[in-house]
Amino acid sequence: MEINKIGEVRSKYKEPVGPDEMRKSKSIIEIEAEYIDGLDQIEDYEYLQIVFYFHKSEGYDLISKRRKGPERGLFTSRSPRRPSPIGITTVELLKREGSKLHVYGLDAIDGTPVIDIKPYASFMDQPTLSLQKETPRYRINKLLKYQNRQDLLLKAGELHGHYCPYLALGVLASADVLKRFDAENDGMEDLLAVVETNSCFSDGIQYTAGTTFGNNALIYRDFGKTAVTFINRKEEDKNLRYYLKDSDFISREYPDAAKLFKKVIAERKGSKKEQEKMKELWQKIAFEIIEEDVDRYFKIEEDVDIEVPDYASIFADQHCSKCGEKLMAAKAVKKNNEVFCRDCAESCYYQLDGSGIVKVEKE
Ligand SMILES: [Zn+2]
Ligand SMILES: [Zn+2]
Repeated sequence: MEINKIGEVRSKYKEPVGPDEMRKSKSIIEIEAEYIDGLDQIEDYEYLQIVFYFHKSEGYDLISKRRKGPERGLFTSRSPRRPSPIGITTVELLKREGSKLHVYGLDAIDGTPVIDIKPYASFMDQPTLSLQKETPRYRINKLLKYQNRQDLLLKAGELHGHYCPYLALGVLASADVLKRFDAENDGMEDLLAVVETNSCFSDGIQYTAGTTFGNNALIYRDFGKTAVTFINRKEEDKNLRYYLKDSDFISREYPDAAKLFKKVIAERKGSKKEQEKMKELWQKIAFEIIEEDVDRYFKIEEDVDIEVPDYASIFADQHCSKCGEKLMAAKAVKKNNEVFCRDCAESCYYQLDGSGIVKVEKE
């Protein structure tokens, strides 16, 4: 076996600190003169995999305690202490200057020998990508199967933009129902969520259960309650309703967060610092809620009496004779044998906003 050093790391870290901290910094990889031609067109890649040698590492243990969590086998860890002390990290390539690669995210200290560089691209390096193309919710289905609620909440945050208790509650209820229904949702309206609020809660449901505004599987009932009924059409409309039985738990268990919420969100009076603090508390609470028992927060009722909406109809298109725009036939307004859109024909309309469904009179 022959392994060659092709370059060296330049970093502000002379000694190892936590890898999370090191990954937040920029460093330079200096390539040795004889290998520079191998960097030709490397700028085409946004990400690179850097293979390096842990030159300060000594010895190893096949079983050892993790920084986070209990003891585990060496090959389930990224510890530098291993039989072949080799590290691999995916970094962002910021720019190339001759023999120097400026990178972001490398967790290797100053002077680390680099032994190889490879381009990273999601189509080559994500083994499940083709499965995901066949089944868009492949990853989510897997997280649901293993009830990995932390990761589900992380993903739901991408949709929602922030972490908050009600987002976590929506994820919690949805993860629970999909386990009980033993169902996967392919977005074809076989699974429905009838929500009774349009708060953060509904985003947790849209992401986790895959019942969304756009795929017609999110039915909104304008009741203003933190409640949702999931209906499985494939199992004779079997349903489960989740109702948040104890909505005061936040002010009781997290009084500081509740006080800040009142000031920052309800009264819109918080300083920038208070806004940041609130986000931080909300995030902490959300990740605590997601680990709790679903029964702790919800009253769960089986087979409630609920009118199940029909599958969405497909309507022909019509054209408005005033603005000329196309619209669903079901929404057309007929006046004197002419067809109009509501916007052109009527002086008011209905809108779903932060207050629920409201009637808006045009000025
Ligand atoms: Zn929220
Ligand atoms: Zn019109």
